[in-house]
Amino acid sequence: MRLYNNLINEIKSILSGANIVSGKNALNVSKKISVIFSSETAFELGGSQKPCVSGLAVSSDIKFSNSVHLFGDDLNKIMSDSPFGKFVFIQIEDFENEQDTFNKIKELEALRYHLNIEGFMTRASALNMREQIRVSKKAIKSGVAFGDYGTTLLNEYFKFSYVKSAEIYFVTNFNDFEKLNSVAKKINQTTSALNHIFDNVMFDCSTCNLKEICDEVDGLKELHLKNVNK
Ligand code: SF4
Repeated sequence: MRLYNNLINEIKSILSGANIVSGKNALNVSKKISVIFSSETAFELGGSQKPCVSGLAVSSDIKFSNSVHLFGDDLNKIMSDSPFGKFVFIQIEDFENEQDTFNKIKELEALRYHLNIEGFMTRASALNMREQIRVSKKAIKSGVAFGDYGTTLLNEYFKFSYVKSAEIYFVTNFNDFEKLNSVAKKINQTTSALNHIFDNVMFDCSTCNLKEICDEVDGLKELHLKNVNK
């Protein structure tokens, strides 16, 4: 799977000034929904309609450094709802069958809807690429940082046997929001195109609303054609 490679490299280049942050505290993870009420919330990353963007992209040939990167302020410096970005890049096994690869992407995407990390409550929307995260007052008081949250998240991705390496980027400095937003949109459109292709939708680029992304990302059209001819 190389469809996302250029987009991954673009995001990494925009965020090349990010710092690597390490995790000191292991956070508890549960599959049960844990609600953080407004009264218990220190702030919401991406809350109050602040700029907010997220994306998940996979590659079978980019080796990631298994690290968490932060572009902007850490949690202890944030005082109120703030802009927020989150990008997850994952190297997965090179499956021979593209449908298998797509199933794994969906499985990895779904993790953000099912995972509850103590002190954090995610509200994600696949439609508008927003992933807002409420952070509890308790977590801030105990000194939890992005490194802890990101490392906990990385460990959850590593539980999938086909995940070989990964990197997570958190963004709280939004000088380059428009650039990031534009690449994130393409990542999400690429995933939508894959959805379209593996849903056996007709191959008719002239009426398809994904034409723009398929014209830009090498391999999408070929993949659709190959699947139509199966
Ligand atoms: S290849 Fe054509 S029909 Fe298929 S998803 Fe892309 S634009 Fe749509």
